[in-house]
Amino acid sequence: MDLWFSELHTPNFHVRVKVRQTLEFKRTPYQELAILDTLEFGRMLVLDGIVQTTEADEFIYHEMIAHVPLFAHGRPERVLIIGGGDGGAVREVLRHETVQRVDHVEIDEAVCEACRRWLPTLSSALDDPRVSQHFTDGVEFVRRVAEEDGPTYDVIIVDSTDPVGPAVGLFGPAFYRNARKALRPGGVLTVQSESPWFMKQAVLRSYKGMSRSFPMVRLYTAHVPTYSTFAWSFTIGTDGADPAAADVPDPLPFETSYYTPALHRACFTLPAFIERLLEAPEPEELRRQLDEEMNRAGGEGS
Ligand code: SAM
Repeated sequence: MDLWFSELHTPNFHVRVKVRQTLEFKRTPYQELAILDTLEFGRMLVLDGIVQTTEADEFIYHEMIAHVPLFAHGRPERVLIIGGGDGGAVREVLRHETVQRVDHVEIDEAVCEACRRWLPTLSSALDDPRVSQHFTDGVEFVRRVAEEDGPTYDVIIVDSTDPVGPAVGLFGPAFYRNARKALRPGGVLTVQSESPWFMKQAVLRSYKGMSRSFPMVRLYTAHVPTYSTFAWSFTIGTDGADPAAADVPDPLPFETSYYTPALHRACFTLPAFIERLLEAPEPEELRRQLDEEMNRAGGEGS
């Protein structure tokens, strides 16, 4: 039988992948979850019709969301990962021998359960003794840390779904402000910040939102075949040194398949149209929205 999965990037553009078998399909309390066995990319996690990760190309995204901030920090000991229920980001973070503890906050336990069943090369990291799992909302978790514990983490990684449903708050300026408070001095926040081709407004929202709380904010990109048809963006913020100028050990202390010390520097070099997007004066409408959201959250962790 000819089975195809289609991901809509816009109402007018979709990407199709041929499916051998649907391994799991369910409605969780938060989203629709599918694990597909595809011919081109192996097993694939899909949430609400959006590809999250695949066996074939997951290494690109997970190496880039983990190694860029961890090497930018230099000596990370405590790391917080929000989202990333597949375990891929946790796996890469644990390869840094300075890391003593990882708090992993995933809102949907069903994602971890399904990935434990079908994507063990990613999810087995979740059972490492250095990992503490918390099945709760990352926005609330960070607010509580900011209010009650104060500076706790060296690196915070947001490996979230797109800015819809439960992930909306993870793209908000109030969340970034609390993340800054939950970071120790020199701490680094990295977020997946969407496609600079299809989701320019989301890219800008993360960049401008983080710029309100972090003195240094940079955007970097990586090419992930199953995300969009262009580069994917990550945004990194810190009160420390420029992440692009980090002193990355060369050779690296472990083997990678995408990330290299040279690529660490190169990934911050942006095409002109993205530079212009980030450097242009903040659109009035966005400024108003971000101000309102900051004010609304004013008392909470401000
Ligand atoms: N690499 C992926 C991508 O960008 O397509 C993201 C993968 S990971 C599976 C995304 C996870 O974020 C999902 O499992 C989802 O349940 C989780 N998530 C969404 N909103 C969240 C929130 N507010 N707190 C914690 N986890 C959240």
